[in-house]
Amino acid sequence: RQEVYRELRKKPSVTKDGVAVDLLMNAGLAVDLPQLAESGAAGIGLFRTELQFMVASTFPRAEAQERLYRDVLEAARGKPVTFRTIDIGGDKVLPYFKGALQEENPALGWRAIRLTLDRPGLLRTQIRALLKACGGRELKLMLPMVTELGEIAQAREIIDREVRHLSRFAHHLPTSLKLGAMLEVPSLLFQLDELMKAVDFVSVGSNDLFQFVMAVDRGNTQLSDRFDTLSAPFLRVLKQIADAGARNHTPVTLCGELAGKPISAMALIGLGFRSISMSPASIGPVKAMLTELPLDELQAFFADNLMAPAQGLPMRALLQAFADDR
Ligand code: PEP
Ligand code: MG
Repeated sequence: RQEVYRELRKKPSVTKDGVAVDLLMNAGLAVDLPQLAESGAAGIGLFRTELQFMVASTFPRAEAQERLYRDVLEAARGKPVTFRTIDIGGDKVLPYFKGALQEENPALGWRAIRLTLDRPGLLRTQIRALLKACGGRELKLMLPMVTELGEIAQAREIIDREVRHLSRFAHHLPTSLKLGAMLEVPSLLFQLDELMKAVDFVSVGSNDLFQFVMAVDRGNTQLSDRFDTLSAPFLRVLKQIADAGARNHTPVTLCGELAGKPISAMALIGLGFRSISMSPASIGPVKAMLTELPLDELQAFFADNLMAPAQGLPMRALLQAFADDR
C-alpha cells in the first residue's frame, strides 16, 4: 500500500473525470516538515502556530517565532503555506499564561481570536515575525474562531499597523498578504456572502464547526459515535459554504479531520470543495480515492439525494454504497 501511495505522488491530483483538487497537509512543528515531500502534499493548508507555544515553557520570543516560520517556508520550497494565528484557550491551555481564566465552558470561552484581540501584544509580535519571515513572498494568514466580521476588521487594523511599521524601517516585506477566516462558529453561516466579501479566503474548521452545529463536545468519548459528520444536515451546511465561496469567487478550503478520511473527502469534493487539508498520512489514501472518483456521477448523486436521501437512508450509507459501486 505504501508503495502504491508513493507511485501516486507523481500522478496529478485530479478526479477520474479530470477535475483538479488540491490536497494539502496540516502541520504545526518543525518535525512535521519532512512530511511535505514524503506525502506529496501540494502545500500546508493549516499551520497551527500555537503548537510552538504549547511545547514551550514560556512565551516563545519573537526571534524564535520568526525562525520557525522561516524554516517552514524554506521546507515548503515555494509550495503555499497558510499560517493560522495562535489558537489558544479552550482545550489548548498554556500553563505559563498567567492571564488564563477558570471558565465554566472553555470551548465557548476566551480563546483564539477573542483572546488575541484582547491581548494585542501577542498578536502584534506574531504578525511582525510572520511579515519578516515571509519577506519576498506571499503571506497567507488566517484567523481562528471568528464569530463576527468586526473581529476580522480589528485584526486587519493590527496587521496594517505592523506592515506600516516594518516598511518605515525598510524591511523586506511580503509581496502580498492574503487574509482568511476560519469558519468554525455557526454565526458565520448566516452571513456567508458578507464573510466571503470580507476576506481573501475561508477555511472551514470542521472539528469545531461540527461541535457547535451539533452542540456536542468534540472531546467527549461518550458522545463520539452519536452524531455523524456525514449526516444530511451537516453536509447541507458544508454545501452552503462551498456554494457561497463559488458565488463570491472566494477560495474555500476545509482543514478539519473530515478531510482526511477518504469517504468524507469524497463527499466534500462532491459538495464543491476543490481544496482540502489533512494530516500527512491521509494524503495517500485520499489521493487513491480521488483518482478513481467520477465526480460528475457524484454530483448527480448529491443532486438527487442531499435534500431527500433515497429510501430515507443515512447519507453515510448512501455514500458508502456509491463508493462501493465504483
Ligand atoms: C478545526 O476546528 O477543525 C480545526 C482545524 O482547528 P483545530 O482542530 O485546531 O481546532
Ligand atoms: Mg478549530
